[in-house]
Amino acid sequence: MNKSEGKTALVTGGSRGIGAAVALRLAQEGADVALTYERDEASAAKVVDQIEAMGRRGLAIKADSADVAAVTGAVDEAAETFGRLDILVNNAGVFLVAPVEDLGQAEFDRTMAVNIRAPFVASQAAARHMGDGGRIVSIGSNMAERAVFPGFSLYAMSKTALIGMTKGLARDLGPRGITVNLVHPGPTDTDANPADGPNAEAIRGLTALGHYAAPGDIAATVAFLAGADARYITGTTVSVDGGFAV
Ligand code: NDP
Repeated sequence: MNKSEGKTALVTGGSRGIGAAVALRLAQEGADVALTYERDEASAAKVVDQIEAMGRRGLAIKADSADVAAVTGAVDEAAETFGRLDILVNNAGVFLVAPVEDLGQAEFDRTMAVNIRAPFVASQAAARHMGDGGRIVSIGSNMAERAVFPGFSLYAMSKTALIGMTKGLARDLGPRGITVNLVHPGPTDTDANPADGPNAEAIRGLTALGHYAAPGDIAATVAFLAGADARYITGTTVSVDGGFAV
């Protein structure tokens, strides 16, 4: 039996990059998987096709994480379509990086809405559907632990907030058998941070392993935390960063 056989999941921002890899890995482990996306309908549909090719149910939901009603609506739609919700992966994130003097109110509000408020309201909504064995996994960032370049004040702040959210929710939901954890990816080869991008060489040099992660490297740890074997892990942060924070 696969580790998430018979479970159902929602992955926010599952059309590309790390979120797509997580959605496919959870399907491989036996789960039916819904995913949200903001704009890229074609990529979202492609991930759903791959999920269905594995014999699982897939569902793509257009939902901007900056919109509270869209986020809670996506959680409810996934739970209603699949008849239950066992796993929530808060993955969608914005990456607004600039010198602090150039980061205005709009960038602040957008970053906090997508990177902090959305994981919080999605977790609240998901918890209403979850029972014993429920799993909430959020995607933070290595930049929450080590902001090595200028320009990351807003992004690093938003990802650090997830540490507190994870600990608090673990206490709130632990008595119901729901675990809540956080994964900090290091440099991962996606559209947002391509391994052949202009700063890739410098970024690579900051890891102990000397190379980027593939999205599947992050997905493997998320799938472990979402699976039955991780039932006694809660409130913690796992770095999958190639030694970036060492
Ligand atoms: P990508 O840019 O490759 O993919 C982003 C995904 O999130 C897409 O599916 C996109 O949808 C979706 N998305 C973006 N904004 C929203 C929104 N407002 N509402 C709904 N969906 C949205 O990013 P990554 O895979 O690189 O990043 C995923 C997560 O990992 C983020 O939280 C990021 O901060 C974190 N991370 C990434 C690292 C890296 O090196 N790549 C390192 C550390 C952390 P659409 O296709 O419609 O645009």
